[in-house]
Amino acid sequence: KLYNQVQDLKGNIRVYCRVRPFLPGKPIGVSTVGDLDERAISILTPSKSGKEAKKAFTFNKVFGPAASQEEVFVDTQPLIRSVLDGYNVCIFAYGQTGSGKTYTMNREKTPLPMSTLEIRNNTHNGVNVPNANLVPVTSTSDVIYLMNLGHKNRAVGATAMNNRSSRSHSCLTVHVQGKDLTSGSVLRGCMHLVDLAGSERVDKTEATGDRLKEAQHINRSLSALGDVISSLAQKNAHVPYRNSKLTQLLQDALGGQAKTLMFVHISPEPDALGETISTLKFAERVS
Ligand code: ADP
Ligand code: MG
Repeated sequence: KLYNQVQDLKGNIRVYCRVRPFLPGKPIGVSTVGDLDERAISILTPSKSGKEAKKAFTFNKVFGPAASQEEVFVDTQPLIRSVLDGYNVCIFAYGQTGSGKTYTMNREKTPLPMSTLEIRNNTHNGVNVPNANLVPVTSTSDVIYLMNLGHKNRAVGATAMNNRSSRSHSCLTVHVQGKDLTSGSVLRGCMHLVDLAGSERVDKTEATGDRLKEAQHINRSLSALGDVISSLAQKNAHVPYRNSKLTQLLQDALGGQAKTLMFVHISPEPDALGETISTLKFAERVS
């Protein structure tokens, strides 16, 4: 309740940032992230004089490299609970491949239950999703099973950066219908958890043919998403939903009473600096 009131005062779009720690077994370099607090990070960039330049970026919330999954889940729980109050919620994970998007969006690895589920085709808001399935669930483990299944179905292609790089968006939608026992009114809410494709620009000398086309397509759809969220944040009269399939599909959960969380992820390694800056510029544009 309190969260909803605070949220209503501040608008329905929040932008969070998470900085991944250096990974075990990889060389530990000097992080490009300098100072960091609950609301801001500063990025250190080398300058010509040899002295480092600092640039600060602010967010609704920052999770540093030491932040646990628990801290992230505790913070986002009220937002997720608001689905039960009939709100539509969209949570996006944005960032270059390897920055921790999937890590944030998934629980710790849980073994697959073996269970059978009824699967039928679904039409979403007139936007036809022929290969999407709407599956009734009765437990958390059903949901985890479906997330793992979806994970396996994602297009995974080899790029120079990461040979398991995810070259597709993944969207898990949970529809919730509840009945207010006092008034008898029915509340419907839905939650979209969207693990976006890697935001990195591909090197045209390394990607050719289908790989290049795919990368250009991903970049176009991410920038269309940025356009929609930034026009919502600026309360523009016209919101360009129709410029990508992703924003068309999620139209009901973007804008109006819906709540949006854009969770940007950055890698601390110096060789990721260019992508880190472009991720932070994206975050600035949508907040
Ligand atoms: P992405 O989905 O953005 O490509 P991943 O979520 O797969 O990136 O993360 C890349 C690697 O970093 C994985 O091995 C993951 O376990 C690890 N990782 C990511 N974020 C964290 C974190 N906050 N703490 C510890 N390890 C992390
Ligand atoms: Mg991923």
